[in-house]
Amino acid sequence: RKFIFVTGGVMSGLGKGITAASTGRLLANAGFDVTAVKIDPYLNVDAGTMNPYQHGEVYVLKDGGEVDLDLGNYERFLGVDMTSDHNVTTGKTYQHVIEKERAGDYLGKTVQVIPHVTDDIKRRIREAAEGTDVCLVEIGGTVGDIEGMPYLEALRQFAHEEEDDDILFTHVTLVPYSKNGEQKTKPTQHSVKELRSIGLQPDILVGRCDDELDPETKEKIGLFCDVPTEAVFSNPDVEDVYHVPLTVEEEGLDEYVMERLGLADEALPAPER
Ligand code: ADP
Repeated sequence: RKFIFVTGGVMSGLGKGITAASTGRLLANAGFDVTAVKIDPYLNVDAGTMNPYQHGEVYVLKDGGEVDLDLGNYERFLGVDMTSDHNVTTGKTYQHVIEKERAGDYLGKTVQVIPHVTDDIKRRIREAAEGTDVCLVEIGGTVGDIEGMPYLEALRQFAHEEEDDDILFTHVTLVPYSKNGEQKTKPTQHSVKELRSIGLQPDILVGRCDDELDPETKEKIGLFCDVPTEAVFSNPDVEDVYHVPLTVEEEGLDEYVMERLGLADEALPAPER
């Protein structure tokens, strides 16, 4: 089974969820069974008690789970039904770990973030991915947030435990324009530096920008962030988010992902997608 971890840099609301869902749609078009997990590093157990004016729609799943609206994007983009197990929150994870502690399941050990919370995070991801070919895992928030740390550590361990070609890290970042109209890569460089400081090296970088990234911008990002230039993709502003799968497909994001994950041979040929 393959896992694609999607992190975000610079600021939230960038389009991480849409980028992940679009990648998933393209893999589904290529004939793979795709699912997704959304990680929300907040202490709420679920989104049911959250103010929709602050947080956006509370999305209700078939099993009654009240979850983050990103799950709605995944269901709509991927055409699959999800359950509340596909939304991992800090509240849910800690509640479970503390219940186990109260029941004496840890046999007197000191219960800690590493390994007990990180083990529970990894278990949830693996269980949600069961029976599928590819699982996208989106980590809410921005790299560097205190709340996100246990998750990034869990992903580091996860990648260490799996085969190299079963894991891909995609980092979605902001590429702003300067006043004189230049695409600036510094925010991207800083967010990748932050990721690397916790032991994660992205395989793919997706730059959210008003327009497509210039070839020179891609080259610069590739050089400074230590990824091949062809692993840098644009996700420009579009009028309708349902066009994003098409714009990233044009740049060959799906082909690159399948190549890296060793899925290219099993994929449906392009004309049949
Ligand atoms: P994140 O997961 O980074 O918080 P989302 O994927 O939820 O971000 O997207 C945040 C907002 O930006 C949403 O309203 C979404 O519709 C919009 N958005 C995402 N990608 C694009 C794009 N390429 N063009 C225009 N709007 C976009």
